[in-house]
Amino acid sequence: MSTTPALSRILAPFAKRYIAGTDKQDAINAARSLNSSGINAAIDNLGENVTTPEEAAASAGEYLGLLDLIASTGVRANVSLKLTHMGLDISEKLAFENAGAVVKKAHAHKNRIRFDMEGSRYTQKTIDIFFKLHKTFPNAGIAIQSALLRSAEDVKRLIAEGASVRLVKGAYKEPPEVAFQDKKDVDANFEKLMRELLLKGNMPAIATHDERLINVAKEFAETSGIGKGRFEFEFLLGIKRDLQKRLASEGWNVRVYCPYGSDWLPYTLRRLRERKENVWFVLRNLLD
Ligand SMILES: Cc1cc2nc3c(=O)[nH]c(=O)nc-3n(C[C@H](O)[C@H](O)[C@H](O)COP(=O)(O)OP(=O)(O)OC[C@H]3O[C@@H](n4cnc5c(N)ncnc54)[C@H](O)[C@@H]3O)c2cc1C
Repeated sequence: MSTTPALSRILAPFAKRYIAGTDKQDAINAARSLNSSGINAAIDNLGENVTTPEEAAASAGEYLGLLDLIASTGVRANVSLKLTHMGLDISEKLAFENAGAVVKKAHAHKNRIRFDMEGSRYTQKTIDIFFKLHKTFPNAGIAIQSALLRSAEDVKRLIAEGASVRLVKGAYKEPPEVAFQDKKDVDANFEKLMRELLLKGNMPAIATHDERLINVAKEFAETSGIGKGRFEFEFLLGIKRDLQKRLASEGWNVRVYCPYGSDWLPYTLRRLRERKENVWFVLRNLLD
């Protein structure tokens, strides 16, 4: 996928905060630095919506090399991927085969893979492919968005199957037919699903920078006798670094999502949209 050069130039200073670098060694370095603060990493090769089988095969190949590198360097990192990076826009069969090869390799290395969740037109396909692979490879986990109306049902089914869920609010603009439109409802659904996952889930990841929800999770775990080893908090690289370190020093499991690669524009635009102060940052840089 090509990026718009002018937009990329404008956003490059902003993107730096959120991206580990352009190649897998940069991500390994970021993981090693996080590890030294007691924090684990989830490495993601940036890219989505590939349009040719060759690009999809190259993405899968990049992940295979990444898994070997994680194993040979011994960094504490698992891996996240998007099914449209594996060819989902071309065919479900292709995405299944490419993702399957990556999940199999991770399994051989005793490592874990998490499927990111993309826009709602991919939700059902992502869940279908996930369940097909999870039967053979329980090292695969999935992200679920509290913004979606369907997520309570999906979480119930994933808990029943013993699948590891990363709970997120959702980074995509979705229509009212499928998603809550009011942030209060997205947050309330997050809290509800989070309690359910903490009580009954298999190593869930509470992936938010929302300090109120993080405090609710800590308090709920403590009062419900849910041990610190039974779930993890997840953050995105570059956001709330002090809080990441504080939680780790308190003995909670913390993992930071470390994206790398040259196709960074869509990821960066999602980070920009999440917070209006980010738009000011970009504008200030333009005027300086
Ligand atoms: C580990 C991880 C994996 C994720 N995977 C997915 C996925 O697979 N699919 C998906 O749709 N979404 C994913 N997301 C993104 C998620 O859906 C949200 O868009 C994002 O986390 C912002 O929501 P929030 O939970 O932090 O809450 P918010 O209420 O949006 O933010 C809470 C606070 O966090 C800080 N903050 C939030 N975003 C930013 C930012 N961009 N820059 C600086 N500060 C910020 C601000 O202080 C804000 O007040 C993931 C998030 C994490 C942490």
